Amino acid sequence: MLRRSSPLAAALAAGLTLTASLVAAPAALADTYTPGSAGLGDPYFPHAGNGGYDAGHYTIKLRFTPKTHHISATTTITATATTNLSRFNLDFSGPKISRVEVNGKRAAYRRKGQELVVTPRHGLPSGEKFTVEVSYAGRPKPIQDEALGASGWIDTTDGAVVVAEPDGARSWFPVNDNPRDKATFSFQISAPHGVTVLANGEPKNSGIVGVRGGYSTWRWEMSQPMAPYLATVAIGKFKVTEGVVDGIPNITAYDPSLAKEFRYLHRTTAKAIRWESKVFGAYPFASTGGIADRLGVLYSLETQGRPVYDKGMADDLVIVHELAHQWFGDSVGLRSWKDIWLNEGFATYAEWLYEEQHGGPSAEKTFAKLYKKKSGGDFWKLKTGDPGRAGMFDGDAIYTRGAMTVHALRKKIGDETFFTLLRTWTEENRHSTVTTKDFVDLAERLSGQDLGALFDAWLYQAHKPKI
Ligand SMILES: [Zn+2]
Repeated sequence: MLRRSSPLAAALAAGLTLTASLVAAPAALADTYTPGSAGLGDPYFPHAGNGGYDAGHYTIKLRFTPKTHHISATTTITATATTNLSRFNLDFSGPKISRVEVNGKRAAYRRKGQELVVTPRHGLPSGEKFTVEVSYAGRPKPIQDEALGASGWIDTTDGAVVVAEPDGARSWFPVNDNPRDKATFSFQISAPHGVTVLANGEPKNSGIVGVRGGYSTWRWEMSQPMAPYLATVAIGKFKVTEGVVDGIPNITAYDPSLAKEFRYLHRTTAKAIRWESKVFGAYPFASTGGIADRLGVLYSLETQGRPVYDKGMADDLVIVHELAHQWFGDSVGLRSWKDIWLNEGFATYAEWLYEEQHGGPSAEKTFAKLYKKKSGGDFWKLKTGDPGRAGMFDGDAIYTRGAMTVHALRKKIGDETFFTLLRTWTEENRHSTVTTKDFVDLAERLSGQDLGALFDAWLYQAHKPKI
């Protein structure tokens, strides 16, 4: 979903003087074509995403050579203009571009930082669909962030795996890299025969569709809307297990050298999906699974429909956490990165609930223990509802205190309303994007209580809330 701006706003942004004739004759504006903006105004990632269009579908065709770790790729994006566009931006930090086409005709382009600025031969009228095709080749590099670490395209010894939160998608394909612009995806990934390729969604034509010159092409489709940071491919040697859980395919894979650690990945995934579907409501995608490899990034990621796990993260609770994100973060996505607690607080609380319902400590016990942390200490110092860019993955403020916020709400509104709230939230916002305010509004609607003070204390104060 994209913020839409009116033709009038676009004209004003372009520096046109607002005259009586412009106001009186909006038809004159129909001929005004202006550049799309270079960002979508996210407070933490101002350059992520671009204005003036809404991406609908990405087709990523990519050939990977394990020996050199080089790729040769063409990404085609189908988008709809939301203003009359003279030019538009994509986010792209990948290898050298050889060609850009818009609607099948060569287009001018230049690169500036993470922006790829594309000028088509003709203006793109508001409301009309267009396609942009970008061809590029070379060796992709991950996005390195001082505070947040590496994300995006990650080389492994026998291939590569993508984990792109928050803004690593641009490392491997040109993209409107903002969580609010979800799109469907097709992957056509070629690798030498004997190398396995996985991605989001479901395999098409039994995975391999052709073998040419010693290369096989693997096709995967993600047919539900997906935020770009949740797109993944995994290329390398994998032991793949295919099964069925709750009537949908469960496809898991691990690097054979991690067999000891991840031998339970398949059945833990099935167990977690069954339990979470009961607690959170209908599973939002057409398949599930997981991918484990030696990434060396020291995190796992809830890549849509099929999370990626790094070595050392085979714990049941990690799997419960990443799969809980399929509801909280993937299907119900963020409009702004500052609301990241909506993803991590709920996924962490899913761990607490799983323990509570599987013979472990109750969520209340976990909460009470954490609440003993002394006021004035570091644990309470960042705002859970707006931690700042560098703090967006802070373990205390976002994960633990995010889960404590959820538990404080549960205590206030009672179990019956709380569990109804979880299911209503995932149902009403399925495949959409949300803000913290949306959640507060729904919690107040279902409970009939004024919850302003509770959320203010837990989300927007940098000290220990009173209970
Ligand atoms: Zn998480």
